[in-house]
Amino acid sequence: MAPQCKNVARNRPGIAQLYGAAVTAIVCCLGLTLAACHSEIATSPEVHLPEGIVTHDDGRLPIEKLFAAYLGLVDRGWHLDVIAESQPAGTAAPLPIIALRSPRPGTAVWILSGIHGEEPAGPNAIAAAVEDLAGLGERMPVVLVPLSNPQGYVRNWRYLNTPEYSETIEGESVGDSSHLLPESEDSGMPRAAAASSPEADALTRYLVRLAESYPPRYSIDLHEDDYIAEGYVYSQSELGVNDHFAIEAIKVLGENGIPIKLAGQTRFGEDIVGGIIGPVNDSSIDELIEARKIVLDGRIQAGPAARTVLVFETPAKDVELAQRTAAHVALLRRLAALIASEPGSTPPP
Ligand SMILES: [Zn+2]
Repeated sequence: MAPQCKNVARNRPGIAQLYGAAVTAIVCCLGLTLAACHSEIATSPEVHLPEGIVTHDDGRLPIEKLFAAYLGLVDRGWHLDVIAESQPAGTAAPLPIIALRSPRPGTAVWILSGIHGEEPAGPNAIAAAVEDLAGLGERMPVVLVPLSNPQGYVRNWRYLNTPEYSETIEGESVGDSSHLLPESEDSGMPRAAAASSPEADALTRYLVRLAESYPPRYSIDLHEDDYIAEGYVYSQSELGVNDHFAIEAIKVLGENGIPIKLAGQTRFGEDIVGGIIGPVNDSSIDELIEARKIVLDGRIQAGPAARTVLVFETPAKDVELAQRTAAHVALLRRLAALIASEPGSTPPP
């Protein structure tokens, strides 16, 4: 999130692979392999994690356990999509970027996490809150991209090409959307000529394509920040600091022991009102989800235009991972309950 996510364009090929299918997952005892036992359409995804992956050890769950938790949703009838196989330079074997979506399409809640690999609380919280998300999926369509940067997660690398933010090396973020966002309000030109990485190409293409059948009304993106002692939330839609979901979310984080910066500015100089920052232009995937106009295939098209877009930045400094994860779980549960109670969701049975 925020200015450190910006990327320059690099002309690299895309590897987007989108599968749509319902599968039954079989988790093997060695590593983790999924076999597709039945499918609604011709192509069934297979997700393979190579054996012997060593996940960065700071208390975060090994990637095999994360995947096992996420793929429990397949047993609840959710669809599994393999967005890309990520294998940036210096990595030994590809790791899949997956999405899971609830069986019923329609106006949806999108939940993203793990864009930055050194921020484990979100991906771990989603694993812990799978049952709650399954419940939400019975009330309203949900699209979940729980571990957007799996190589970053196992290596504790923020970006695909470099471990951390640097003034001299342009970090390649998997969420970079500069190639689809217009230069200015009326411009037909994107901010970058091409996606900055195959992963960003695949993830953004997936979003734009799936937004046709699961258009995002709400978007939640879980981040952390090593450099802050007090958290805040970006509210990217036009509702800005007045979005009641953002206001409620700040309360939940505070109740769960997360210090909140209620006023002043972020470390990037953005104004904070009640723990909330209004829309920013940072070429992130969150800006793409909120965008009313995008530039696709050389022309302006309608964007996803989500109504509520929340990007959480909770402090990793001086707060143990277990507490950070617990706070993200509480946040997911409260937002799921609030969204489920909104007009337009299905009443409980
Ligand atoms: Zn982040």
